[in-house]
Amino acid sequence: MDFELTQEQKMLKDSARKLMEREIAPYMAQFPEDQAMTPDQIKTALKKFIPLGYIGGTVPEEYGGAGLDFMTYILLMEEIDPLFFIPIMITGGAAGQIATLGSEEQRRTYLPALLNADKIGCTGITEPNVGSNPSFIETRAVPDGDDWIINGAKMWISNGAFCDICMVLANADPGKGRKGLNYFIVDKEQSPFEQRPIPIIGDEARMPEVGHLTFEDCRIPRSNVIGVPGEGLRETMVIFQQARCLVALNSVIYAQKALDAAVKYAKERTQFGRPIGQFQLIQAMIADMAALTDASRMLTYRAAALVDRGGRMHREASIAKFYATEAAVKVTSMAIQVHGAYGLSTEYPVEKLFRRARVMTIPDGTTQIQKMVVARELLGMSAFA
Ligand SMILES: Cc1cc2nc3c(=O)[nH]c(=O)nc-3n(C[C@H](O)[C@H](O)[C@H](O)COP(=O)(O)OP(=O)(O)OC[C@H]3O[C@@H](n4cnc5c(N)ncnc54)[C@H](O)[C@@H]3O)c2cc1C
Repeated sequence: MDFELTQEQKMLKDSARKLMEREIAPYMAQFPEDQAMTPDQIKTALKKFIPLGYIGGTVPEEYGGAGLDFMTYILLMEEIDPLFFIPIMITGGAAGQIATLGSEEQRRTYLPALLNADKIGCTGITEPNVGSNPSFIETRAVPDGDDWIINGAKMWISNGAFCDICMVLANADPGKGRKGLNYFIVDKEQSPFEQRPIPIIGDEARMPEVGHLTFEDCRIPRSNVIGVPGEGLRETMVIFQQARCLVALNSVIYAQKALDAAVKYAKERTQFGRPIGQFQLIQAMIADMAALTDASRMLTYRAAALVDRGGRMHREASIAKFYATEAAVKVTSMAIQVHGAYGLSTEYPVEKLFRRARVMTIPDGTTQIQKMVVARELLGMSAFA
């Protein structure tokens, strides 16, 4: 076991930090924080991440991706401006799905636009009535001549407010229940659908995190079904393995930023004639925050390394996801405590980190669902009926 990064990984992280500083921060400085960016402005920003391999980082080079191993991609994502974490992760996820499951024609048709950030991707699983148990997806895909007709609604979809291409999970054969599920590539340009943002806690007005999509007699080409017929649910579980590592990492980023802010503040703020960092109860919070953050990072790295090794790693991905997301809620909350009332103020960074961290225990399987996955793997008994 080696805890040292390779020279290449160190250089990549360094280049990523410089990219954020020199290109992303100045570009973003022109957009007021209380106004939504247009989809074109978001795409211009995303394009700046391409040279380092951020978009579709793990998509093989032969399909136009960066061909990174997942561990290196995780190390790269750790340096990202958090505002772009989800848009890049989710667009890359859609591209990855097409690269892995798609036909040559689907790869040729859809990958270039996603990987060049000419189009933004998303994955539509969750619906108004279907959350933790995607077996009961209500969206329907009905064959009609050379097309499929999709009807249904998708909710809480990351990038949903401004996406162009949605990987829609729909049931093409309701008589077969969960064995009727498949993914369908829906490109708004060719098959229009409605989309609107859903405001949530921790949202950035510039880029609303989630949206609601409505597919009403949405006609897509027959060739846009992707993956193995009836295997949509199993494919979802494979997608979740990487997605859970990435959501865990997103939480590690919030926790680390909160810890850094708390350390800085504890050195600067004085009470009783001393820096508050000298008080043992403040030190205890700092130590707890550091332990929670380090443990989250290690669990995330372990899960990422297992992705590269291949095979089943639901247990490790779920442990990383629930531990890191719950830890980040605690760490960011403690960071507020270290700051006292200033921590609650929007003038300081930690209240926003807390709101962002709070979101992450829900997507890609709630904490409760992750725990049930872990227990199922250990007990050999499933609580999922
Ligand atoms: C920020 C964000 C981004 C998201 N992005 C996407 C996306 O890109 N694509 C997408 O398809 N979806 C996305 N989602 C949706 C997300 O995956 C779902 O919200 C999540 O799976 C939970 O579903 P639900 O919200 O309907 O909750 P429910 O399933 O209704 O659960 C409600 C509560 O019941 C608990 N619960 C449910 N079943 C059980 C059980 N068997 N045992 C014990 N407790 C249980 C849950 O843990 C939760 O506490 C996103 C959500 C958020 C918040």
